Amino acid sequence: DARKRSAQLAQALQTLKLHDGDAVATIAWNTHRHLELYYGVSGMGAIIHTVNPRLHPTQLVYVLNHAQDRALFVDLTFVPLIEAIWDKLESVRHLVIMTDKGHMPACKIQGALCYEDLIAAEDGDYEWPTFPEDTASSICYTSGTTGNAKGVVYSHRSSVLHAFGVAVPGVIPVGPDDALLPVVPMFHVNAWGVPYAAAMCGYKLVMPGPRLDGVGLTELMNNEGVTCYWGVPTVHLSLLAHWRSSGESVPSLRTVTTGGAAPTSALIEGFRSRGIEFVHGWGMTETSPVATVSSLTRADADLDDATQVARLTRQGKKLFGVEMRIVGEDGQVLPRDGKTFGELQVRGPWICSAYLGNAPGSALDGEGWFPTGDVAVIHPDGTMQITDRKKDLIKSGGEWISSIDLENAAARHPEVAMAAVIGIAHEKWGERPLLIVQPAPGASPTKESVLEFLEDQVAKHWLPDRVVFVDALPLGPTGKVQKSVLRERYSA
Ligand code: AMP
Repeated sequence: DARKRSAQLAQALQTLKLHDGDAVATIAWNTHRHLELYYGVSGMGAIIHTVNPRLHPTQLVYVLNHAQDRALFVDLTFVPLIEAIWDKLESVRHLVIMTDKGHMPACKIQGALCYEDLIAAEDGDYEWPTFPEDTASSICYTSGTTGNAKGVVYSHRSSVLHAFGVAVPGVIPVGPDDALLPVVPMFHVNAWGVPYAAAMCGYKLVMPGPRLDGVGLTELMNNEGVTCYWGVPTVHLSLLAHWRSSGESVPSLRTVTTGGAAPTSALIEGFRSRGIEFVHGWGMTETSPVATVSSLTRADADLDDATQVARLTRQGKKLFGVEMRIVGEDGQVLPRDGKTFGELQVRGPWICSAYLGNAPGSALDGEGWFPTGDVAVIHPDGTMQITDRKKDLIKSGGEWISSIDLENAAARHPEVAMAAVIGIAHEKWGERPLLIVQPAPGASPTKESVLEFLEDQVAKHWLPDRVVFVDALPLGPTGKVQKSVLRERYSA
């Protein structure tokens, strides 16, 4: 069905006079129609630009204009969002609403088309064109916490190689007998390559649409016998909280895969204690995104539980095809001793070489390395561990403090749901860490109990001077804690 409908869509795009190299934007949930767009758009030689609906409207306008999108496909949920910015869009000629005739809304935009009508007019007898493998297939913009987001363009070659990299055995345990639920959005970095890897290997895909709360996900997983699901840590946290309060579970679930932000050991234990295997990957928009994956190997089987969990908090080993190293401030390559930290650099066929509109190769150094802006150590066994974003590192009295390690330590406190640490300017020490805590539902931890809890886990000079409690930490468009917002709020 997906193949036939993708072919009908490709024909419909031709009927709409879209050509090779035209950008076609989507603002959509994970649905079968979005999957058809992935194949129909790229397969006919155009470029699918997946847009994150959580962007601020001015950023939405910016990315749609910057990518010069010719057509825009939107889910029903996002029609009001588009109505509000429609006048500011410079290149979009067609708006297609991803629904059938019976659900077409009264849309303020003249000439809005209905997805099902559009493809029903075509017969699906379509010969997919062939073109050079380095033809652009998709575009995703970085989540850009400061300034305008930057566009990353993926090619057919890079997307296929990345899908191979993710799908080979030993990376993420998923195969043709699995039912995979991607909660990771198809509007950000090609949902970690799931749409391509699934078709390559024949996994059953279960598409959640807009219903991503604990109740909705649990019901869907149980109805569809889901065995694997992929998502960012904040989604996992709300699912675990729902399971704890409702007593519900998903007996078919075998593996949870996470990425996008560092998972805490409490999160990992939450799944492992239910017999669910935990897999953790690292990457970024610029790396397609998967570059490293952490999962337990045969050699780890004899380790005690706490050591296994600690291993899984590491970001893991590089995928075949990716190279990585850490470098110091003057560019010297640093040892892989698990202690020395430096900026992580990566290189490989699915690592971005330039941002959209910039000169080829301009994102790389002379030897083809991409500077990630993440700070990491590499352990002697080759596993990489992120300690911070370069801009989030805290320097106190000449000593570095890793905000991720401190957050992880605080989040082990049973009354803490999430924690964030930022550096605050300090006259004597240069900077001191401020800990911001989102309590677990119904809990009210005290500053004293949190600090006492940290004392056993971190060096004395790492202990925050102050702890702030908030109802909810601010989350950015891709589910990461927005430290820039916290800095604005608390740095003074
Ligand atoms: P994005 O380009 O929005 O996907 O964000 C990429 C950034 O998210 C990376 O550079 C990291 O700072 C962070 N990130 C992604 N995965 C992880 C992870 N597993 N652990 C820690 N940070 C991560």
